Amino acid sequence: MADPRAWFASIADPEERYPLDEVVYTGRDGSLLQVVHDHDALAATSGAEWKRIFETRAHRNEWPYGSGVWGKKEWVCPEIDDENIISMYEGHTNLFWAERYGRELGLDDLWIKLCGNSHTGSFKDLGMTVLVSMVNEMRARGKAVRAVACASTGDTSAALSAYAAAAQIPAIVFLPRGKVSVAQLIQPVANGAIVFALDSDFDGCMEIVREVADRDGIYLANSMNSLRIEGQKTVGIEIIQQFDWEVPDWIVIPGGNLGNVSALAKGIQMMLDFGLIERKPRIAVAQAEHANPLYLAYRRGFETFEPIHARPTLASAIQIGNPVSYQKAVAALRAFDGVVEQASEQELVDATVHADRTGLFNCPHTGVALAALRKLVARGEIRRGDRVVVVSTAHGLKFVDYKVRYHRGALDTIDSEFANPPIELPADYGQVRDRLMREIDLRFPE
Ligand SMILES: *Cc1c(COP(=O)(O)O)cnc(C)c1O
Repeated sequence: MADPRAWFASIADPEERYPLDEVVYTGRDGSLLQVVHDHDALAATSGAEWKRIFETRAHRNEWPYGSGVWGKKEWVCPEIDDENIISMYEGHTNLFWAERYGRELGLDDLWIKLCGNSHTGSFKDLGMTVLVSMVNEMRARGKAVRAVACASTGDTSAALSAYAAAAQIPAIVFLPRGKVSVAQLIQPVANGAIVFALDSDFDGCMEIVREVADRDGIYLANSMNSLRIEGQKTVGIEIIQQFDWEVPDWIVIPGGNLGNVSALAKGIQMMLDFGLIERKPRIAVAQAEHANPLYLAYRRGFETFEPIHARPTLASAIQIGNPVSYQKAVAALRAFDGVVEQASEQELVDATVHADRTGLFNCPHTGVALAALRKLVARGEIRRGDRVVVVSTAHGLKFVDYKVRYHRGALDTIDSEFANPPIELPADYGQVRDRLMREIDLRFPE
């Protein structure tokens, strides 16, 4: 196989190219960059052979190919020396067969891709391993990169801090004060990042980090840095691989800054281009009603885009009014016959609570996707026999606060019909027995 290569190219002009070790995030006209792979070099290997290569590497120990991301190294970021890779064997997260939840929703074949079962508890690990590895490679090549920085709604900063700490690279994170969960805040604190909590929202933190990156030579780790997309794009490839290379009918994914849906589409497009699959899934992006600029644009047929002021939502990681990857997301939706749906706060909570009661333990962003799914099923857009995969973006344990409040009946403006608070009693057998028999009869009547 000829050594595959990759480079940055402007999404506006593919001839405008930069090497991957250059510190550059946008093209001359301000458009985003994307990583472009050497098509001919990759096409020299057949689709069947790529599948075999990916299969034999999965879950093995040979560094770094056992990682779900680096097992696809030629497709992701071929130029990094294996010993400069910073990996925590991310990826290969399980597909949960949501048999009961699907049945209760009217679906026969529903699966949840649990991307939150990962080192820092969200899919952000998939992209961050690539970005931090590239920075590590640049430093090894003698390039001066003093530190890496990101603005975050919580999960990006956790991933950046962990990978940077492993690589001994200084990390700086900007979080909107009081708007991330305790678990999300403590991760970068514990990993020794320089943590700023700013009196602003995500979009405000983003402005600051862009300025720091522009003026102070700090390397920008947000998803406008398209290296992250290269790692994140393995999610769709992995889903299809987990189905023995059968393509599902639908993939439902929550969207905020819209990097992840762009990544999903990009990975699947490569599988089509290189002959691993022959058909496409459809893609549904789910947004919180309080942060729905893509949904609004979709309703206008994508004729115009207006950033909005995102309002607070329990799905705090997608509280974004001006998504960086809007254009890439529209291209992805057009290529994959996509739809966009939204969910209110009550709908997202109801969907998570219902799914939790079938054995899942979902974060609120996954709740947004599940609520959108319910609507698409109700409308007949998604049909009973369709194979559907919902991308669960983070682990529920990172977002217990809203569950605690729900089950206490203490979520403002949310109706907590299924609150299930612990029963407090003295340690007395008689009292315990009476109560437990009553509860069993009440909850599981014969
Ligand atoms: C980052 C994130 C999202 C949104 O992904 P985008 O690429 O910004 O659309 C959704 N859910 C969780 C848990 C996240 O951390």
